[in-house]
Amino acid sequence: MTLLRPKREPMLLRTGARFSCEGDGLCCSDVHAVGPLNEEDIVFLASISEEAIDRHEDEDAAVLMMRSDTGTCVFWSEGGCALHAKLGPEMKPSPCIQFPYGLTATPTGGRITTQHRCPCRTLGTRAPVSVDAARPCILGSDAEPKPDHAVEEPIAWSNSESVPFSEYERRESAVIESLVEGQNLARRLAAEPFPKLERLAWTQVADEFREFSGPSRVAAAARWFGDALGYLIDRRERTERDRPWASSFERAQRRIATPEPPNRVFGDWLADEVWALRWTPFGSFAKARAELVTRLAVARRIAAWLDISNPEHDNVSAAEAVMIVDVIGSTDSWESVQHAIAEQ
Ligand code: SF4
Repeated sequence: MTLLRPKREPMLLRTGARFSCEGDGLCCSDVHAVGPLNEEDIVFLASISEEAIDRHEDEDAAVLMMRSDTGTCVFWSEGGCALHAKLGPEMKPSPCIQFPYGLTATPTGGRITTQHRCPCRTLGTRAPVSVDAARPCILGSDAEPKPDHAVEEPIAWSNSESVPFSEYERRESAVIESLVEGQNLARRLAAEPFPKLERLAWTQVADEFREFSGPSRVAAAARWFGDALGYLIDRRERTERDRPWASSFERAQRRIATPEPPNRVFGDWLADEVWALRWTPFGSFAKARAELVTRLAVARRIAAWLDISNPEHDNVSAAEAVMIVDVIGSTDSWESVQHAIAEQ
């Protein structure tokens, strides 16, 4: 049997994915939302100002400099992005152009994916994601679509069953469809939270996130995440109360006329996590489902805590919780957990 190789074209969309930039400002106020700069970005930004770049020598990475007083990018003001205004959108650094889009190459084409790290992605009316809007954002320096992940067949459906990509697509579409409807999410994923870990205990995981120190938003998000894990595992007391991205979510709250049920917000995020296929390096889809149900439980716990201070806006609480679990889900610490989850 010939195994199909991953392709970038045609570009494929997940039904129901929506995004419109509303200027909620989150992606310009936290470098971790948009990601690291590439070499071209660094050279270009250095030609404007050396103070535009925050170099992380020990991690061999550089990100946009954030202002210490406001926590926003040095190019951002209430009027928006100065680079965008003066030089045009195409002159912004590559992570800003790309956000929130990504591309997963699969045997049937390039799946356009989205990160749920901004209320512009998770809340409000939002236009359907389109190939025309996403394509210019996911081009590499050779002007070709640049995948951030690639998937080959066969796909491990479970520890004991691998299937061709066409069969995986058929089974996956039923899962995604039901997640988008936003009902019985854990049952649709057919998995239990807190699966068995190899050489690691969930209490250790909770401790590690609770012990993140420092004033950064990501550190605060890690503490929320660790608190929720600790509460769910053994009812430990909550330690973190500062909401890392409160201003962006409060701004979004003011523009929303018709709130969605929180389970639609959670389901939309889960559907994208499945669709992006970024779980394939860690094992089977059964294992990925257990990981997702665990993060869903954490997100629901965080949303419940947020609801206490904001009881009329549980869709906003759900989106804020999704923001936290989406960011923490891409950290090295959580990747170690993904590796440690035992095959199902
Ligand atoms: S360069 Fe512009 S778009 Fe990018 S984070 Fe800064 S203000 Fe936002």
